[in-house]
Amino acid sequence: MIIVMTRAATRKEVENVERRLKQLGFDAHPIQGVERIVIGAVGGKKISFPTGLETLPGVERVVPIMAPYKLVSRESRGSDSIIAVGGVSIGGPQLAIMAGPCAVESREQLLTVARQVKAAGAQILRGGAFKPRTSPYSFRGLEKEGLEILAEAREETGLLIVTEVLNPNEVELVAQYADIIQVGARNMQNFALLREVGQSGKPVLLKRGLAATVEEWLMAAEYILLEKNYQVILCERGIRTFESATRNTLDISAIPMLKQLTHLPVVADPCHSSGNWRLAMPLSMAAIAAGADGLLIEVHPKPAEALCDGPQSLTPASFRELMEGVRRVAAAVGRVLPSCPENHPLVGRR
Ligand code: PEP
Ligand code: MN
Repeated sequence: MIIVMTRAATRKEVENVERRLKQLGFDAHPIQGVERIVIGAVGGKKISFPTGLETLPGVERVVPIMAPYKLVSRESRGSDSIIAVGGVSIGGPQLAIMAGPCAVESREQLLTVARQVKAAGAQILRGGAFKPRTSPYSFRGLEKEGLEILAEAREETGLLIVTEVLNPNEVELVAQYADIIQVGARNMQNFALLREVGQSGKPVLLKRGLAATVEEWLMAAEYILLEKNYQVILCERGIRTFESATRNTLDISAIPMLKQLTHLPVVADPCHSSGNWRLAMPLSMAAIAAGADGLLIEVHPKPAEALCDGPQSLTPASFRELMEGVRRVAAAVGRVLPSCPENHPLVGRR
């Protein structure tokens, strides 16, 4: 349930409600809105309405939350959550563009692509140092060395870093380097990992599970918010369907659906969903038209030589074209893309 305080409620009155909630076995999550504070109350025993809390000073009303997820629900927060990280806001009018290779392969590869995606207008560099691979014989990442290379690329370009963590016991290490920690599709319901990234206090990019419903995905996000880490960005990365023409099916409808169900920002990944770089631009444009707050795009200086996910990786030149297409759609739906810092003529168009 949520306890909506009056506009004039004092700090003392809010604390008093929190105290009473504690006595009733609830965990209190005060959420500061523009006009008032609402208090999310979770974890307590079933309570019957009216609850008695209605009579406390400063309380306007008490509203049950019907959805199984509470803190992530739209009911607990009417306005959109904006995740501010290192000068970039995710969830506001400006779109957040995360781009880079599937995996950090070498210093040269990463620094090259970092400069290229920055020149095309990305604000956040992606790249896996710990890679979840279907086959244990595939390249599984440079691990700590990969994190160090990412940090060097941030130092040089000013781009923020988003990178994946696979194990709860590696969260502390990854959090030392990442600006945003990625939880991948295969780990969406790794509850120990969700709790650990929640406790890290770092913004989390939570990808949708390979076959997860929207409700299961939001329940996974709820684990992170329960640790009092409210900085979660959802990433629609396609789900497994009967369709085999694409690697996965980008669930475009999930984007506006999530906008109704949750206040959390939503970004789309057209590369893992399609498995095909040629589809990345139209899918990106569709995702932004549907209300996505940003994109996660795989870009590699030489996709044919990529150690991971080459067929779905864009060249820097095709990424730049994608950005131009997205810019047109963004303008049509009242969103803006960050401007390109430079106008490099990019070579190697394909
Ligand atoms: C990735 O972003 O490189 C990745 C492994 O994605 P997903 O978890 O969506 O498969
Ligand atoms: Mn990948």
